[in-house]
Amino acid sequence: MGIRGSDTHSLIFNNVKVPKENRIGADGFGFNFAMAVLNGGRIGIASQALGIASGAYELALKYAKTRKAFKTEIINHQAIAFKLADMATQITAARMLCFKAACEKDAGKDISESGAMAKLYSSQVAMDTTIEAVQIHGGYGYVKEYHVERLMRDAKITQIYEGTSEIQKIVISRSIAK
Ligand SMILES: Cc1cc2nc3c(=O)[nH]c(=O)nc-3n(C[C@H](O)[C@H](O)[C@H](O)COP(=O)(O)OP(=O)(O)OC[C@H]3O[C@@H](n4cnc5c(N)ncnc54)[C@H](O)[C@@H]3O)c2cc1C
Repeated sequence: MGIRGSDTHSLIFNNVKVPKENRIGADGFGFNFAMAVLNGGRIGIASQALGIASGAYELALKYAKTRKAFKTEIINHQAIAFKLADMATQITAARMLCFKAACEKDAGKDISESGAMAKLYSSQVAMDTTIEAVQIHGGYGYVKEYHVERLMRDAKITQIYEGTSEIQKIVISRSIAK
């Protein structure tokens, strides 16, 4: 669907035996290591989602200031202006969550909760913003020429990889219940 600049393929191993001396860690090391990697990675995916959302917003704002319908630029129609207001607000909130998680990582704190919050929210903002950016572009949003359709396709994966949105909610709910 999207992220076509990132090539993803399946790797299938049949009848592979790995000798014990080739192990890189003790029993249980792999899971904990993978979870720690995912925690940090979530800040990266949250930031990717933020970038997608910001790009879509900037394109939509520019278009709304130039495209005329019913004798005025479409930004002068409140229905369009309110979409842009929502986008700007949500993007700012997502940026704050990304900064919070990144600052906590820099400070060496546990980032399982803040990273999950940043990813959960930013990926939702990316999805919402790109859908509305396509809408603001009308028919031009649906075709390739104005790039917003690509951003909409790219946004979706940020709700799926490095832990789906449902998994982020599990992480957050367990953290706040401690
Ligand atoms: C192109 C591409 C690249 C990817 N790259 C990466 C990557 O680099 N790193 C990475 O971490 N992942 C990556 N992924 C995502 C990863 O491969 C999985 O798709 C992802 O972890 C979800 O697992 P699943 O597809 O098996 O979904 P499933 O686990 O089958 O989930 C299906 C649905 O059920 C929900 N669900 C599952 N369990 C629960 C539960 N306990 N409670 C509530 N809801 C639940 C899920 O949220 C989802 O909505 C990539 C995916 C794609 C398509």
